[in-house]
Amino acid sequence: MDMSTPAFVQGTKKLLIGGQWVEPASGQRIEAINPATGELLCHIAQGDAQDVERAVAAARRAFEGPWSRFTAHGRRKLLLRVHDTILDNFDELALIETLDMGAPLARTRGYKEWLSQLLQFYASQTGAGSVATSPMSIAPNFTALKHLMPVGVVGGIIPWNGPLMGSWWIYGPALATGCTAVLKPAEDASLSSLRVSELMMEAGVPDGVINVVTGYGKDVGQALAEHRGVDRVAFTGSVGTAQAIVRASAGNLKRLQLELGGKSPDIVFADADLDRAVPGASMGVFTNTGQVCVAGTRILVQRAIHDEFVQRMAAFAKTIKIGDGREPGTQIGPLISQRQLERVMHYMEIGGQEAELVHGGQRLSGNLARGFFVEPTVFANVRNDMTIAQEEIFGPVASVIPFDTVDEALQLANDTPYGLAGGVWTRNLSTAHTVSQGIRSGTVWVNCYGVIDPAVGFGGTKMSGYGWKGGKEHVESFLYPKATYINLD
Ligand code: ADP
Repeated sequence: MDMSTPAFVQGTKKLLIGGQWVEPASGQRIEAINPATGELLCHIAQGDAQDVERAVAAARRAFEGPWSRFTAHGRRKLLLRVHDTILDNFDELALIETLDMGAPLARTRGYKEWLSQLLQFYASQTGAGSVATSPMSIAPNFTALKHLMPVGVVGGIIPWNGPLMGSWWIYGPALATGCTAVLKPAEDASLSSLRVSELMMEAGVPDGVINVVTGYGKDVGQALAEHRGVDRVAFTGSVGTAQAIVRASAGNLKRLQLELGGKSPDIVFADADLDRAVPGASMGVFTNTGQVCVAGTRILVQRAIHDEFVQRMAAFAKTIKIGDGREPGTQIGPLISQRQLERVMHYMEIGGQEAELVHGGQRLSGNLARGFFVEPTVFANVRNDMTIAQEEIFGPVASVIPFDTVDEALQLANDTPYGLAGGVWTRNLSTAHTVSQGIRSGTVWVNCYGVIDPAVGFGGTKMSGYGWKGGKEHVESFLYPKATYINLD
């Protein structure tokens, strides 16, 4: 693979509005930093409410204009063309993502097959708005037609921890259903979303169907959440921001989809196959440097194997290769930013005071000191009421919590305001079912962690938000039902 910096990563990126790449109204720009080196990659545009105004108007025009005349078959063909174009350019996209947010190439390139499945899934869903007739009970001379109609203009506000994937949770269902989109990537990692959008235009997506406004959350995100011309907002990010979006969206009672953080429990029983559970649960926290909403950060381990598990987890953590994502063999890259580094170090300090540090806890030095690297970190004998077990850290920090019985495991697992995900490792079928049913979360993994099938999807409950990504529910959330009653007399 060509590892030189792609030509796309230079100069100042513009905004995509109505099919044109345009300057932001403010004339301001934001630095795009490589978190592995601290070096400037290029600049992105600092959009604001005026750009959102233009983008929403373009999205509305496209929604009511040419895009509304696309048939389901036309949208399917378009999604398949987008699929081919994205896959043909995937090595470049993966490298852009690695440079911009730090994840190793092994991870960013590894999305390829998954993304192919995701795009093909949404292509298969373009008929979801088809008409259905309803048998009527009120009178024999009546009939009714039920259509599923596209909700309109969708605002997508996404985080920096995986924008190459995150963009598709907006674009996939929007293209499948006939909605139009205004995407707002995170200020810390916008480049892959911009390149994805450019490639989509090359693949023939009509002007205005997708628009991208980069910039800060308080400017662009807030304006999108407030805008009365936006019918739905899909948001992935933190709880506090979600609360601001809920308030801002009240003006036109926008439909919302919120996928927020977690403090997900990953429960290891004494009868588990530790050869699978140790690496599985470890990477359930450490992958993407812990910057994963579903990360299994509270590892609940049955007391009989707590010490052995902790020792094996520390040994596993020692083997993890941390470094620049471009280096072959790198398994974990840097954190996204100086701000995130400070936040994670702060929690590591708290953990050191509250619990028993078994491995890690340090920022990396030497030639990695330029970037935002920390060690994968394991705290043992953690109590569930400790800060490191209650608050989302969004870094590679595992809290291992001992428990005795199934009931206690479930009580601890559910003693959190969050409800995004959870895991259970056991060879006992009954334990697997009891615990996976008992965890109050939208997603549970048994003897695995983090697997997501685009056709099945995932989502959360409690303070982890509502709405579903992937599967038919996701497609239907971009549609609303409409009944037409007909008097046949
Ligand atoms: P984090 O703190 O992990 O960066 P955020 O929830 O702040 O998570 O960010 C997720 C996305 O939300 C980013 O694109 C960010 O710019 C955006 N955002 C931040 N603040 C607001 C806001 N007040 N309104 C709308 N979007 C926002």
